[in-house]
Amino acid sequence: MYDFHTHTFLSDGVLSPIELIRRAHHIGYETMAITDHVGPGNLEVVVSTLIKDCEMASSRWDILALPGVEITHVPKEDIDLIASEARRMGAKVVNVHGETIVEPVEPGTNLAAVSSRNVDILAHPGLITPDEAKTAAENGVFLEVSARRGHGFANGHVVRVAREAGARTVLDSDAHAPADLLTREFAMTVALGAGLSEEDSHDLLETAPRDLLAKIGVKRDT
Ligand SMILES: [Zn+2]
Ligand SMILES: [Zn+2]
Repeated sequence: MYDFHTHTFLSDGVLSPIELIRRAHHIGYETMAITDHVGPGNLEVVVSTLIKDCEMASSRWDILALPGVEITHVPKEDIDLIASEARRMGAKVVNVHGETIVEPVEPGTNLAAVSSRNVDILAHPGLITPDEAKTAAENGVFLEVSARRGHGFANGHVVRVAREAGARTVLDSDAHAPADLLTREFAMTVALGAGLSEEDSHDLLETAPRDLLAKIGVKRDT
């Protein structure tokens, strides 16, 4: 299992980073990113804490845990700045909390995210436009198919617009509690539910994560 979008008590999740990694490893995860919500103030403490927990867990257990961030409800003008700061501090996966249809995310957030070369994943992009998806394709920003309640309502739209624009997609849990972590079966169900064929679902769960890892320059050594 791959999962590039999870939360701990460093933001609004329930577990410590090291416990979340332990729980994920126990249910068969091989690669994960922890991407707590960040703004300008908590960016440094989140990234530096996650780096330590991810390094220790990855060195002792057979799981690759990557420190990351989810830039959340940051003014759109500042998204690229925070993304580049996160990168400089050592975040391996930089997500932006997109314009999900279930939260009042500032309009223009999707465009700012896909326009930034420092962003890896636009999480739950809601009713993303074809032009935004095209920009995502040009900049190598992955669009997220969300397994999260509510955020996932727009998955069918995201998959269709991404395909037409040639943008890549990736499936994540957006887990805030251990029960939200993915199983292979559930991830497959979400992919099929978004309207993908069996083959495209397999691609979403296997090929896309590997391409994302290659893009961020991370190798898993098993
Ligand atoms: Zn959250
Ligand atoms: Zn999230």
